[in-house]
Amino acid sequence: MSTNSTSQTLPAARRESVGDHGTWAILLAVTLTLELPFAWLRYKIARFFCYPVTLAFVHSRGAALFLIFGLSFFGIIRAVISLAAPVGAGWWWRNQEGGREPSGPEQVSYTDAITELATHGEIVHPPTGWFVVDDAQPGAAVCGDTLMVTRGLLVNPYLTAVLAHELGHLNSIDGRLTCALNRVIFKEPRRDPEFEAKYPPNGVTLFWRFVMWFLRGGIGVKLLGPSWASWWRGREYIADQYAKQLGYGEEFADYLEEYGLFYDRPVPFVWLTLQTHPPVELRIDRLRDPLAGVTREELDEMEAQLPQRREANPEPEAEPDPAPEPDPGETPEPAAEWHGNPS
Ligand SMILES: [Zn+2]
Repeated sequence: MSTNSTSQTLPAARRESVGDHGTWAILLAVTLTLELPFAWLRYKIARFFCYPVTLAFVHSRGAALFLIFGLSFFGIIRAVISLAAPVGAGWWWRNQEGGREPSGPEQVSYTDAITELATHGEIVHPPTGWFVVDDAQPGAAVCGDTLMVTRGLLVNPYLTAVLAHELGHLNSIDGRLTCALNRVIFKEPRRDPEFEAKYPPNGVTLFWRFVMWFLRGGIGVKLLGPSWASWWRGREYIADQYAKQLGYGEEFADYLEEYGLFYDRPVPFVWLTLQTHPPVELRIDRLRDPLAGVTREELDEMEAQLPQRREANPEPEAEPDPAPEPDPGETPEPAAEWHGNPS
């Protein structure tokens, strides 16, 4: 997809500063450190039970131990690698979700939306691949460098605005971090509720599930779950601001109002939960606030420009706009917005 050719003379959406990366790096370091003792225990157990069989295959003591060690620590190793290069993440995710390739009309809708976005600002990190999930509800998500879009979104008028938000996740560490955290854990196969209702699991099955839960890993992710959820809630606001920088703040707020607000429910003790999204009403509020996401430096710049504007254009004093409507979709006239909309 050629997204850069139309945007060379237009302002790029602001990239995140290095300072924003501190919290996730600490959380990930603690998460993986918590995983280490359990990975070591897995190694000890696997060495006890599997060493003779492995040795029979590889015919070398060192190679057998290396193989067992690698498999025991595989979740941690592949999580770290995912941060640099989430190789195969898109393929795996697509299969896991039952995704499919887009039809001709879907491809056209997607390309039109991305081309439209590229006229508003340089798309720094477009997805390396994307797929469709057959779901009538509009929805999208990213994992690694891959984008998932529902069939419902591809025929929805808010497609471009939602993609602007998802590009915000791709523009930062979010997509790769999602992939890394998923890869710490070996996913449990999906259970069939109808089968389980007919044949309830007995004691042996439950014990086996506990053993497998331990072997799959992810204890660090679970222990830090509420901390991660809190961090992810903050990331939604940042992805929203990215959509706003691309000029789709108002439109994405409309989308949230239409499709998200109705389903929002109170979350008791949210800081103890795994709730990864903030209240929709607050997201809409920040998307429509012309000063949300504006840095201190930008505010100073607005103030500095104010006298020059008054000099250049004396008309506003004689005919002030009584209720200027902020339009985040346009390149802002910051000083005018600041003073016209003090709230
Ligand atoms: Zn999001």
